[in-house]
Amino acid sequence: METTFQCLLVSESANGYASAIVTKTINDLPEGDILIRVRYSSLNYKDALSASGNRGVTRTYPHTPGIDAAGVIESTNHPDWKVGDEVLVTGFDLGMNTSGGFAQYIRVPARWVVRLPKGLSLRESMIYGTAGFTAGLSVAALLKNGVTADTGSIGVTGATGGVGSIAIAILHRLGYTVTAVSGKAASHHFLTSIGASDIINRAELDDTSGKILLKTRFAGAIDTVGGNVLATLLKCVHYGGTVTACGMVNGGELNTTVFPFILRGIQLAGIDSVEFPSEKRAAIWQNLATDWKPDTLDTLVHEIGLSDLPDAIQTILNGRMQGRALVRIE
Ligand code: NDP
Repeated sequence: METTFQCLLVSESANGYASAIVTKTINDLPEGDILIRVRYSSLNYKDALSASGNRGVTRTYPHTPGIDAAGVIESTNHPDWKVGDEVLVTGFDLGMNTSGGFAQYIRVPARWVVRLPKGLSLRESMIYGTAGFTAGLSVAALLKNGVTADTGSIGVTGATGGVGSIAIAILHRLGYTVTAVSGKAASHHFLTSIGASDIINRAELDDTSGKILLKTRFAGAIDTVGGNVLATLLKCVHYGGTVTACGMVNGGELNTTVFPFILRGIQLAGIDSVEFPSEKRAAIWQNLATDWKPDTLDTLVHEIGLSDLPDAIQTILNGRMQGRALVRIE
């Protein structure tokens, strides 16, 4: 008899988009090299966009979101992999237009699959998920550009969110001084507990003065929100600093001038976790499993089941998520 499994399915209706837990068969999954029994997934902002009908993320419905999954290989003919291998998948097309990780099974191409690194459990890999991988890529960009722990404070925006909170925890682990930029006054204790030494309100980084440069305050910055917050960061990073950009919850536009670049020599580093090359992924995950792994990883997360996802999706869409939501699949 054919194997059945449960998943969250988002469907379009006259009243918008609604999700329900449904039963599917393995044959319903797309073709692929590797069938994975999923143990954990996680909730990212992009999943919430997919679950609420954003056609820039997901073109056709019904659809199972979930851009992250960690689990065990159930079947494969691919020479590099065997049944029982512990693996994780983040990004590429998973959960966008390929049935995603909010399900007991996924089937994907071999090049999407990363071997679980030593030092990380499946559960921990999904506390990180795409958010943690993106935080890792952002830290790697700072290091590559010479923004080391002794160069000064690093600003992290969207500080209580998934990418922001993990970035703070990793930077703290690496000995950086971190300034958290947050819109949530009630989360100051959380931000201090994961390693922020200073917290400023998001409104302080929403400069409307029209000045081309501001007084410098950061050696570098990890921006997760975009819009005018990113434009403001560019004006207040020290000479030779780097600002990384991965997100757009504050806006997709960037109104800036050339002056931060030509007068202060700063760098703007774009971060993409989705198409990041397969062959370079293992090195980032190995850092996340060892030297970069925060002691506080477990305090960044709360665990939910598939049936809790609709509420959690609303929370993240409303910008009210603190840390990471880990999705326990079984
Ligand atoms: P979260 O929703 O977990 O975090 C976003 C945080 O941004 C919120 O918690 C809040 O933090 C802050 N925020 C919310 N609304 C606004 C607003 N209107 N203006 C300014 N700040 C706001 O999302 P993630 O951390 O998962 O993702 C953050 C961004 O990064 C998203 O845009 C996402 O799409 C993008 N992303 C991009 C990736 C890539 O590969 N380029 C990969 C992963 C994510 P606070 O209240 O503390 O300010």
